[in-house]
Amino acid sequence: MSIIRNPELYASGEQKIAWVKGNMPLLRGLEAEFRDEQPFVGLRVALSVHLEAKTAYLCRVLQAGGAQMAVTGSNPLSTQDDVAAALVHGGMEVFAVHGADAAEYRAHLCEVMETRPQIIIDDGGDLVNLLHNDYPAYLAEVLGGCEETTTGILRLMAMAKQGSLKIPMLAVNNAKCKYLFDNRYGTGQSVWDGINRTTNLIVAGKTVVVAGYGWCGKGVAMRAKGLGAQVVVTEIDAVKAMEAVMDGFTVLPMEQAAEVGDFFITVTGCKDVITEKAMRRMKNGALLCNAGHFNVEINVGDLEKLSVEQFESRKNITGYRMADGRVLHLIAEGRLVNLAAGDGHPAEIMDMSFAIQALCARHIAKNGKTLAAGVHPVPEEIDHEVARRKLSAWGVSVDTLSPEQERYLNSWNG
Ligand code: NAD
Ligand code: SAH
Repeated sequence: MSIIRNPELYASGEQKIAWVKGNMPLLRGLEAEFRDEQPFVGLRVALSVHLEAKTAYLCRVLQAGGAQMAVTGSNPLSTQDDVAAALVHGGMEVFAVHGADAAEYRAHLCEVMETRPQIIIDDGGDLVNLLHNDYPAYLAEVLGGCEETTTGILRLMAMAKQGSLKIPMLAVNNAKCKYLFDNRYGTGQSVWDGINRTTNLIVAGKTVVVAGYGWCGKGVAMRAKGLGAQVVVTEIDAVKAMEAVMDGFTVLPMEQAAEVGDFFITVTGCKDVITEKAMRRMKNGALLCNAGHFNVEINVGDLEKLSVEQFESRKNITGYRMADGRVLHLIAEGRLVNLAAGDGHPAEIMDMSFAIQALCARHIAKNGKTLAAGVHPVPEEIDHEVARRKLSAWGVSVDTLSPEQERYLNSWNG
């Protein structure tokens, strides 16, 4: 029995799914192929990914391939209750409620786990951790899984290093057609979409501080520049900092950046990136946003400790009034700003990420029994397949080598 907010919300959820489906040609193609092939027939698939329309469509694509789906969201603030209702209305098992507290969130993950999944599709590693810690008896039935995001893969690598990862997991995030597009262009656009619709403030002429110049940070900084902001980057890695300098950005330590920033966006995967030290130096009215995994990049405890008053400054924004009268504003409780204050990445981007997920799930269904426990790269042919399909969907052609060119290039390979 599903656990959702309100089954009657299904019509608006259905409309959202229809919209994204119209803009996800790769998933549409895979839905048709899977319907014929039935790669997941008889297999139970558990999924924990931000439960909005694009994810819902991925669930339907897997279901079309014969999968028996059990679905939850990877973050209660990104779960959309109408979308969950649409999936339930269509006959899927869903355990997710927008705004669920920590205990409810865990209970939903447990419900999904209790379906004894054979394939796991995870975003951030919570489902895989729960499986190993609380349901070890179910491990033997699991063929393998796929992990969507950078931090989830870091968690899996840590488990593998300790010898505690007992199933094969494909590192979807590390496929080129994932991080080059999703993390960079997807996060670059959706973070600003989330901030703009939540704050309704101008970015041009302001100073934006981006903490972390990895794939996500590059996208967020690039789009901030496009919106007319002065961009300051903070980094701990000298090479990434050098890249930011060459890309035309100012690089400063956080404590100095704190004094000049109007918007702060953390995208590091690290904790305590913005703490009391920086908060004490920030300008009145500074906006604090997180786009990295987990709500630990901005130390919300420090904000609470420093403030004499907390209030809702606007929907989904908390104001923290400091003893000296300054107010710092925190968006979406320090959780992912693009997903907790917006619909996340655009459909065309998630089309690629989720085509990789779908093809990796099929790879596991076919080969899971032969894969060793551990973190595996996405097979290169899946990456190329997704790029080819996307180019073709967008009507873009690439050149092919002539036999003469091929001979020329091969001559260098001995
Ligand atoms: P990445 O590894 O490419 O980049 C992270 C960068 O942060 C690195 O350059 C690292 O040196 C830097 N860094 C680490 N600690 C720092 C600190 N204390 N101060 C400043 N810089 C620091 O990772 P990524 O793919 O860019 O992902 C970053 C985070 O965003 C991860 O947690 C990932 O799961 C999450 N993510 C979010 C979205 C989204 O939709 N919001 C999308 C993809 C990934
Ligand atoms: N579970 C973590 C977050 C990791 S989010 C937390 O809530 O703290 C990062 C992942 O979200 C990215 O790898 C990206 O692929 C995914 N994502 C971004 N937009 C999305 C969308 N619209 N639907 C589903 N997933 C999305």
